[in-house]
Amino acid sequence: MHNAAFRALGLNWVYVPFPVRAERLGDAIRGFRAIGVRGVNVTVPHKRSAMEWVDLLGPEAEFIGAVNTLTFQSDGTVRGDNTDARGFLAALQEAEFPSVEGQQVVVLGAGGAARAVVAALAQAGAQPIVIANRTVEKAEQLAEELQARLGIKAMGIPLLEAAVQAVLHETVLLVNTTSAGMEGKPPLEFNPELLRPPLAVCDIIYTPPETELLRAAAARGCRTLNGVGMLVHQGAIAFELWTGIAPPVEIMREALLNALNP
Ligand code: NAP
Repeated sequence: MHNAAFRALGLNWVYVPFPVRAERLGDAIRGFRAIGVRGVNVTVPHKRSAMEWVDLLGPEAEFIGAVNTLTFQSDGTVRGDNTDARGFLAALQEAEFPSVEGQQVVVLGAGGAARAVVAALAQAGAQPIVIANRTVEKAEQLAEELQARLGIKAMGIPLLEAAVQAVLHETVLLVNTTSAGMEGKPPLEFNPELLRPPLAVCDIIYTPPETELLRAAAARGCRTLNGVGMLVHQGAIAFELWTGIAPPVEIMREALLNALNP
């Protein structure tokens, strides 16, 4: 999607993959800076460790505890951002999802993506934020961090039907950030009877484009959104950080959809 954007704007830039071993990450980042690379995306397994080589952190990266975008600035410093949170919010806004300000939301999962999603929801004024996770201790820990560091009322609960049912009736938005339901993985165990409007349901998974959770939610009349918008927008925000140019979002989305469904 970045190369499609560069082509569309006539920019002589290129986006290429570099496989980097964990123990060479520092060398790679110093090397990129030395040869004048403008920026890189950082992915698994480097998202947390890359923070060590960053001079300045973007607004959400510190809370999320991971970066996905590095920008090599003209003064020689390295800026680290996590564009997933802003990407998620941009996708919700683009889909004209109801405002979450002052509203209860439920986030399923407490991994890396959940941290970005709760940071975004906190920024959008959602409150309280309920985090439901298979390993309940991780949900409780993330809820405590939200309260202590961002001053947001939050609660961790087990990802079990009775516990989720008890909170869902007062909830405007349910977001799945677990990897359950991703292509090649078993679907999320979730009773579809719990899904009913006005609850809106977002699943940040993008392959398949419609998870069982989203299919069940749509069949019961809930508004739904998959993870493609978040993926496009996190990339578009990185594009703008590197180039300083407004990203051609629709061209990026088309290239991404072509890559996901060749
Ligand atoms: P992660 O850090 O490994 O976290 C995985 C989460 O899924 C944990 O909370 C884990 O629970 C839970 N989980 C895994 N299998 C489960 C199951 N069978 N039932 C219930 N819970 C289960 O992964 P991540 O980086 O957060 O990524 C999660 C998903 O988000 C992936 O599908 C990824 O593709 C997607 N994602 C999308 C975007 C986007 O732009 N759309 C961006 C980032 C990530 P435990 O703690 O109990 O193990």
